[in-house]
Amino acid sequence: MTSTRNSRTSSRRAPTRVSARTVRQPPELEQLPSPGVVAEPPPREDKAPFDIDEVLGRIREEVRHFADAAMFALAANGHDSLFEQLVACILSIRTRDEVSLPVSLALLGRASTPDALARLTPDEIDDIIQPVTFHEPKARQLHAIAVRTRDEFGGTLPCDAQVLQSFKGVGPKCAHLALGIACGHEAISVDIHVHRVTNRWGYVRARSPEQTLAALETQLPRAYWVEINRLLVPFGKHVCTGTRPRCSTCPVLKYCRQVGVTDPR
Ligand code: SF4
Repeated sequence: MTSTRNSRTSSRRAPTRVSARTVRQPPELEQLPSPGVVAEPPPREDKAPFDIDEVLGRIREEVRHFADAAMFALAANGHDSLFEQLVACILSIRTRDEVSLPVSLALLGRASTPDALARLTPDEIDDIIQPVTFHEPKARQLHAIAVRTRDEFGGTLPCDAQVLQSFKGVGPKCAHLALGIACGHEAISVDIHVHRVTNRWGYVRARSPEQTLAALETQLPRAYWVEINRLLVPFGKHVCTGTRPRCSTCPVLKYCRQVGVTDPR
């Protein structure tokens, strides 16, 4: 697994502009001016200069006590092929890890290769994945991916983001995370936790996960491109929560600008 690169590359924070497309965002970010503009975290007298190496080091220590995000947990359990990671990511869409992880284990326990999954019918797959959200379309989607991987790629998915995103329902978040874990690609996966936390820090200013991805690709040291998802998913679930983040006991309080936070614990 390639997700735990710990090098201490210096931070680059050159201001940059990204697309001003507006999609969805955490409610507290609605108030932000200049959507899509990335800048230095705003200076505050009560805060230390923002140091991405120090911040991620502290969060790495904090999340040691929490369960890994589902795809990293699967990889640690041997389900680390690109196909398995892609299957797990599709199952996790709009579904909590507590639900998607056991379902992924059940499905991959029954069929962990494209050939084996293609031999199941969509209805059989649907029976196994019932607990996840949108299980019916996901079952059809997974079956189609298995058949195409078997017939078009000889049973092995290539480590190619364009190929992965050519499958129906696979976007940059799943493609990047699967490629990062299974292929060692340096790719950032921005889910709602990565989006929310990096904006609250003031490290990026973006109105959508897509804008956050563009901003992070500009300024986040490459050594953290895969690891940031592994760190910020559990951190966002347990510490920097969507509502009432636990700022008073947060290990990065002295660096975080708490942008848009109005009701911390
Ligand atoms: S200080 Fe608060 S807003 Fe900032 S990262 Fe910690 S929990 Fe999140």
